[in-house]
Amino acid sequence: MLINAKKTLCILVVVIALKSSLAQNATTIITTPQQLRKSVQQDINKKYVDIRQIIPDIKIDLRYGSTNNFTNSILYNQPVPFLRLPAATALKQVQNELHQHGMGLLIYDAYRPLSVTKKIWTFVKDSRYAANPVTGSGHNRGIAVDLTIIDLKTGKTIDMGTDFDNFSDSSGHQFLQLPQSVLKNRRKLKGVMIKAGFKALDTEWWHYAWNNDRGYELTDIDFRQMGIAIK
Ligand SMILES: [Zn+2]
Repeated sequence: MLINAKKTLCILVVVIALKSSLAQNATTIITTPQQLRKSVQQDINKKYVDIRQIIPDIKIDLRYGSTNNFTNSILYNQPVPFLRLPAATALKQVQNELHQHGMGLLIYDAYRPLSVTKKIWTFVKDSRYAANPVTGSGHNRGIAVDLTIIDLKTGKTIDMGTDFDNFSDSSGHQFLQLPQSVLKNRRKLKGVMIKAGFKALDTEWWHYAWNNDRGYELTDIDFRQMGIAIK
């Protein structure tokens, strides 16, 4: 009986320690390559990778690296599509599945330095469509990705009803007043992403996030420094 009580107490202590470490990571901001390396040494899943190393044929159009976004200005320079290792690996599964249907992925945004989220917040200031920099977002943790599907034959995106970053009701999964073909395309993306382990966001058909089950820290390292840090 006493052994069982000791065992229970031990498990309780471990659970509390794990929870408090995850809670601490919720507010931790990694700002230097050294801090990132230390975190990865403790947990290899926290490694950032260039998605193209895992999925060489993936198409990339990082919209915040150009003026082709809702702000009409460049929000970051020399962007690289980084994601944490488990999210990038899961995306490979999605790409493989889409290939079987003559389709593939196009990435609009992946890891986003926290400082960029601060810039975006000055334009949007609506938590339905942008992350409040106080809490940060999955993008700042390297576990969220904005994406769509392309037809491999034409190289063009399939019709999702709205463009990326269309901040209106019609971007949401609950909005059903759309042509059947559009609803089918959105369901296609949602189906393959959820099957691979991602979660959808109600308000944006293009946004998917990996589970933050390992306390992935907010990160504010620019793309060039990140490239050096992960070598
Ligand atoms: Zn997003």
